[in-house]
Amino acid sequence: MSLDVNGKKPKVNYLKKGFDFYQLFDDDFYDHLHNKTARQTIKACIAIGLGAAYNTGDIRDMTLGDIQVDGNIIRVKNVYETERIPWIVLTGDLGKFIKEYYELRVERTTSLGDTSPRFFEKFWDGGELEIDVDIAGIKSNGTVDKPSNIISLMTYMLRYISFKMDIDPHLYPTHLYVNSILHQLLQTEGKALESIIRTYGWERAFVRESFYQYIQYRDQNESIGFNPFDSSVPKELNTIPDTKSEEPSDFFLKSSSVNDSDADEDILLIEFLNLTRRRRDTKRVRALKILYKNCCQICGEALVDINGIGYSEVNHIQPMAEHKGVDREENMIVHCPNHHTLMDMGIITIDPGDRETILHVDKSNPLHKSKLLLTNHLLGEKYVQYHHDVIFYSMKEQVARNLKELSIEL
Ligand SMILES: [Zn+2]
Repeated sequence: MSLDVNGKKPKVNYLKKGFDFYQLFDDDFYDHLHNKTARQTIKACIAIGLGAAYNTGDIRDMTLGDIQVDGNIIRVKNVYETERIPWIVLTGDLGKFIKEYYELRVERTTSLGDTSPRFFEKFWDGGELEIDVDIAGIKSNGTVDKPSNIISLMTYMLRYISFKMDIDPHLYPTHLYVNSILHQLLQTEGKALESIIRTYGWERAFVRESFYQYIQYRDQNESIGFNPFDSSVPKELNTIPDTKSEEPSDFFLKSSSVNDSDADEDILLIEFLNLTRRRRDTKRVRALKILYKNCCQICGEALVDINGIGYSEVNHIQPMAEHKGVDREENMIVHCPNHHTLMDMGIITIDPGDRETILHVDKSNPLHKSKLLLTNHLLGEKYVQYHHDVIFYSMKEQVARNLKELSIEL
């Protein structure tokens, strides 16, 4: 067993490039439990771990209110960026597994008058499960160590699956979200980074770990992954997977199903409306937004809300408070919320040499060395220089440092 005998967290198992996530949901693995409720429960847990990056504690503490079901669109509460992106939208099979359990739960909640807040722990009895003793293990008193709560049930199933699929070290529930992000990056050749950061925040250790692992993986040849983000991500980030490398049975395609229906459009807009970043604009800021018609200078995208009102953000290139920037047009750039975040963090910067070339810490990112799409006002040289030398540089250093640490560790 690769499990924490000493109470230690097992080393992350980074699934190899090309891993088919569909296999984790194969009924053949679950049949031995002889328990439909348990099967639906674990599949929903795995889907939430993969699709919404829930850690074990988040899964255990989920309530009915953390899920919204609207036809085949499932929204799971985002436990990370709760204000900016409060819901993560899942469609396709990931959504389907969650919906199935949700309906079961709602049905039983009504019939049993149950108001327990916990979403997963209620309706299966560990004692009645049929489990594989070799996988579950024997307790010191000689009895079989049957899973007694949702986390141990999930842990047991992932061990069972790992054993059957020859995955070593074994998968653990906390490996799900790291792999989910890693494979989204692989699948989109790094383009998903923006939406991942926007959804979870760069400060999350699992986001950074996945990114560094991606950098190590990306030069290998085969590529497959899946992307549960689709409808909460602006159009231009939804890369259509390379047709030559994709079979139609690909989990990625089925789960993300880049759906062009109006319903999805509405959700996208509502996500943006939920942004709490809006502040009252100063005169200068308002003038710039009008100048650019609310279009992002980097991607050219204009966000329009359901009332037809455009939305953009104006960013100080050399930040005001902490970095003593000035409140002038030459120190301002118009962004969508997504590129605003990347610029703030120093993931991207503008080349001070020409003040129109974008630089990205990840040199293979498509944004790197691309040009600003819109340049209707002059960017002040010293502000661009400052952002490049101070903010971008420190992010670059941080990434380099982390990579170094990682290669020593691995
Ligand atoms: Zn943009």
